[in-house]
Amino acid sequence: METKDIIIIGGGAAGLMASCAAAHVLKKRGSVLVLEGNAKLGRKLLATGNGRCNLTNLNVSPAHYHGDVTAIQDLLHEYTPEAICAVFREMGLVTKADSEGRVYPQNQQAAAVLSALRWDAEKYGVSFSEEHTVSKIEKVKNGFTLICTDGTQLFTKQWKTLSGTRAPANAVLLADGKPVYKESGEVQFTDTGISGICVFGLSVYAGEFFALGTIRNKKYASLAVQLDLLPDMAYQDVLDYLLEMTKLYPARAAGDLLSGLLNMRLGYMLVGAAGIAQSEPAVKIKAPQLKKLASLLKGWRLDITGTKDFSAAQVTAGGVPLTELDPHTMASKQAPGLYLAGEMLNIHGDCGGYNLHFAWASGITAGKSAAYRCLKEEKR
Ligand SMILES: Cc1cc2nc3c(=O)[nH]c(=O)nc-3n(C[C@H](O)[C@H](O)[C@H](O)COP(=O)(O)OP(=O)(O)OC[C@H]3O[C@@H](n4cnc5c(N)ncnc54)[C@H](O)[C@@H]3O)c2cc1C
Repeated sequence: METKDIIIIGGGAAGLMASCAAAHVLKKRGSVLVLEGNAKLGRKLLATGNGRCNLTNLNVSPAHYHGDVTAIQDLLHEYTPEAICAVFREMGLVTKADSEGRVYPQNQQAAAVLSALRWDAEKYGVSFSEEHTVSKIEKVKNGFTLICTDGTQLFTKQWKTLSGTRAPANAVLLADGKPVYKESGEVQFTDTGISGICVFGLSVYAGEFFALGTIRNKKYASLAVQLDLLPDMAYQDVLDYLLEMTKLYPARAAGDLLSGLLNMRLGYMLVGAAGIAQSEPAVKIKAPQLKKLASLLKGWRLDITGTKDFSAAQVTAGGVPLTELDPHTMASKQAPGLYLAGEMLNIHGDCGGYNLHFAWASGITAGKSAAYRCLKEEKR
């Protein structure tokens, strides 16, 4: 278990800015770690303003926000657009406003904003862990314990022949045989199990299961994943296709039966799993075997035996919801030591740079407040 003074969940706009603000206050007298679920920090930030990042607006005022706006009036008063631009200028980022007051980096590249934040954070000693999704936060005596999954990979039965194979799929996580979570996307087969975008969402719950024996706080005894490898076809369509192929190509080897439908390596694997010899002429495949094969294609069940490195970390400050916060510090009233910032709060702005403005302002406030709390506790 790794212990940090401040852990920031999410390396997006608010989290990165919070990390810089906290690190500036701490001046390396405490540790700051950013945990980001994605493989790369600031992925959304890079997409903002069509890749140009409209980072604030000279017309910022409460009138451009919706939700619990009264609570953030002081915050907007303190962090004016000029103040935010000055923060970025100190990081080396020159900004420029257009005729509508929308502010962009001078070079019109969102990547420059991300780099400025990252370099500033690194300079002040912030560390980053990408591909770490926090799945659970528990209050402990002196702070919080964060449960996170490291990597995306789920360990299942191994098929070396499948290593490197990719396929689109619908995946269902089964706990004690019951569906608890669904995800769609690409599945990648590895030397030790399955990985990929589709599996990533599942791994969050699998991480909790293998650490605590629970999923969303409920106890379970076993975990499996069921893959639908032909999500665009109904079971009957798959069966009809298989029957059609056996009639069209009666002499074709069974192993090649799925070559027009599925990654060939996966096809061979599933033909074998359906109890059909690869070299068997298609015409000799029995109806129950074809049905078994169709069932596997629509619901291939793999027992999960573990996840890639499971890790936990302890923190003395972190992040929390606007009536439940002190908007001057972004501190949770219910869980001392927890701070919230950015999009997760009940505030959204108009288009034109207002949302990022709030992410920066709340991020700075949360980061600074968490750091001051750390320093105060250190003195006790
Ligand atoms: C296409 C697009 C363009 C936009 N353009 C603009 C614009 O030009 N100007 C503007 O003001 N606003 C814009 N916005 C809105 C703006 O991007 C958001 O308001 C802003 O990113 C919010 O910042 P945030 O840090 O709260 O959230 P995010 O930027 O979403 O960051 C949250 C981060 O936390 C990570 N995360 C979430 N859960 C976990 C977990 N459990 N464990 C670990 N990591 C986790 C996420 O992967 C993410 O990286 C745009 C939004 C989109 C989608």
